[in-house]
Amino acid sequence: MIDLAGLKEQYNEISQEVRQAVHKVLTSGWYVLGEELERFEQEFSSYIGARYGVGVNSGSDALLLALKVLGIGPGDEVLTVSHTFISTVDSIIRNGARPVFVDIDPDTFCIDPAEIENRITEKTKAILPVHLYGHPADMTQIGAIARKHNLFIIEDACQAHGAECDERRVGAIGHVGCFSFYPVKNLGAYGDGGIVVTNDGTLAEKLIRSRNYGQPEKNVHTFIGINSRLDEIQAAALRVKLKFLDRWNMRRRQIAEQYDVHLSHTGIITPIEKKYARHVYHQYVIKCRQRDALQNFLFQREIDTQIHYPVPVHKQRAYQDLGFDTYLPVTERVCGEILSLPVHPWLSEQEVLKVANAVQAYRDTPA
Ligand SMILES: *Cc1c(COP(=O)(O)O)cnc(C)c1O
Repeated sequence: MIDLAGLKEQYNEISQEVRQAVHKVLTSGWYVLGEELERFEQEFSSYIGARYGVGVNSGSDALLLALKVLGIGPGDEVLTVSHTFISTVDSIIRNGARPVFVDIDPDTFCIDPAEIENRITEKTKAILPVHLYGHPADMTQIGAIARKHNLFIIEDACQAHGAECDERRVGAIGHVGCFSFYPVKNLGAYGDGGIVVTNDGTLAEKLIRSRNYGQPEKNVHTFIGINSRLDEIQAAALRVKLKFLDRWNMRRRQIAEQYDVHLSHTGIITPIEKKYARHVYHQYVIKCRQRDALQNFLFQREIDTQIHYPVPVHKQRAYQDLGFDTYLPVTERVCGEILSLPVHPWLSEQEVLKVANAVQAYRDTPA
């Protein structure tokens, strides 16, 4: 089976370095909030181009705490998308604020800047764009709208480590940027992890306390925080992997280019990279009619695919009592057409060809 993540192959590539780094932590006797985390926070934030990085337990906690330290809560509205992973929206609801859904651009799958202003009210406090699949949202237009209406921007960059918008890495463009290190992300830990990056020192200070029981120093708690830290073992492993991130992203781009060429005359719509964008292909998402039949056809040929995501967030059962009846035509249409093909850096040339040929063969098969 050709799988979607290639995590075993990834480990094979770097196992010696990872084992050394983890061993060093294990023998140090210091496992939480230590030197590895501090170094990783510096290295990652400087890679992104932000002044500060605060490691947390997951991408979900990164989003939750980012909104909290910006003071977003009951009575506030946050503009975001419904075509995303659920925790983008959970972070708003868990802070007591209300998500207001904006439709997406059918080419980028990201928030449609042209639709944002229609949804702004006097309660709107922030825009939460998602750089979905590794393609950046249009931060130039989003930034202009945010400035005009005095709104915060929280970037959900959980799928976009290293992606660029007008040659700036995403995550450092808005007020805060949130990343996940869930194992299958472009930069992943051996378990859960996340980070918030920002250029604002006051926000960084608040984040450092919020992730650690609201505690500026031992036995002093100035507000109610949570326990959400990136532990030393994960930080040490992430420091090893960060050095490979650009190379791995480059390989993803190469594979995407090969797919683009092979699938160009099949009637299937391949991903688009906007002029302003550098896509890092967390997922390679095609659009086609009879998507389910294609998925089945590929599965029979031992090619794993997935649908990210089959149900728009605002239609999930968890939210059914919250009354999200927004009509989002593009969001609702694309979830019936999208399919994520394997695009991880450890695919061999033969595997890439096998996937491309199988998709072509499907198009050539009479229905
Ligand atoms: C993965 C992901 C998250 C959540 O990250 P976790 O580390 O799994 O909590 C949030 N938003 C998006 C877009 C994601 O892909």
